[in-house]
Amino acid sequence: MALYDQHMHTWFSTDSQTDPADNVRQAIDLGLAGITFTDHLDTHPIEWPECRYNYEGLAKAVSDLRQRFGDRISIGLGIEVCYQPEQMDRILPFLDEHAFDLVILSVHWTQNRALHLPEHWTDWDIATITQAYLGTVLEAVHFVRDLAGQGRRPFDVLGHLDMVKRYTQRYRGGYDITGYADRIDEILRTCLDAGLVPEVNTSTLRQGLTETMPAGWIVRRYAELGGEAMSLGSDAHSPEHIAAGFETAASMLKENGIKQLAVFEQRVCKPCGL
Ligand SMILES: [Zn+2]
Ligand SMILES: [Zn+2]
Repeated sequence: MALYDQHMHTWFSTDSQTDPADNVRQAIDLGLAGITFTDHLDTHPIEWPECRYNYEGLAKAVSDLRQRFGDRISIGLGIEVCYQPEQMDRILPFLDEHAFDLVILSVHWTQNRALHLPEHWTDWDIATITQAYLGTVLEAVHFVRDLAGQGRRPFDVLGHLDMVKRYTQRYRGGYDITGYADRIDEILRTCLDAGLVPEVNTSTLRQGLTETMPAGWIVRRYAELGGEAMSLGSDAHSPEHIAAGFETAASMLKENGIKQLAVFEQRVCKPCGL
């Protein structure tokens, strides 16, 4: 499986205990072509400073791992930035001042409520939170498109664009993204305008859902709108989840018209055949 897993977390994120070296060993055993570490940066006052990004720590780990394993696998230094519109004057300078291979922008919060904290949205039903979440994703991609208009490109990939379904499934026992096809279209078109590559995130396949984030119908729509390559990520927080679900996801991508992975090295996209 000569694929790249471009979304994973390690002990440099508060929600993972994983030694980065274990991820590399697992990826080599699986025959992956490359992996990219994308630990969290979340600047919301509730998450800060626990979700601070330890740049020096992870950059040193990646540099050491490249020396040990670089002849067998490509190892990238990335980051998953949580979209926090109030904090962009901190986030953008941080990204400007540090070198990365890949920068993912992900929405985990909507209207000051965290999806992973169900106590934040006890009064919301599936439809309310789904609509709010996709509205925030659209706002995030508009923000990136506006930056692109000023010649700035701080983000490469849009993480798990319909992640709300993972949490409505977990905390409300169901999900519905198909009812928001127009909103999804707007998100995809804006990604294309902004030069932001949507990710296919496979973590839902091991968390009680039968589809990736996003599902095949959204991948097909992206291809119809002119999209050619997408990023693939397991969102592993432990080594056994590296590349989990990738065979399913790779077939799904090809069936829906996406024949290439968007692989990022030093912020440059190098498409790679699936
Ligand atoms: Zn995420
Ligand atoms: Zn993640």
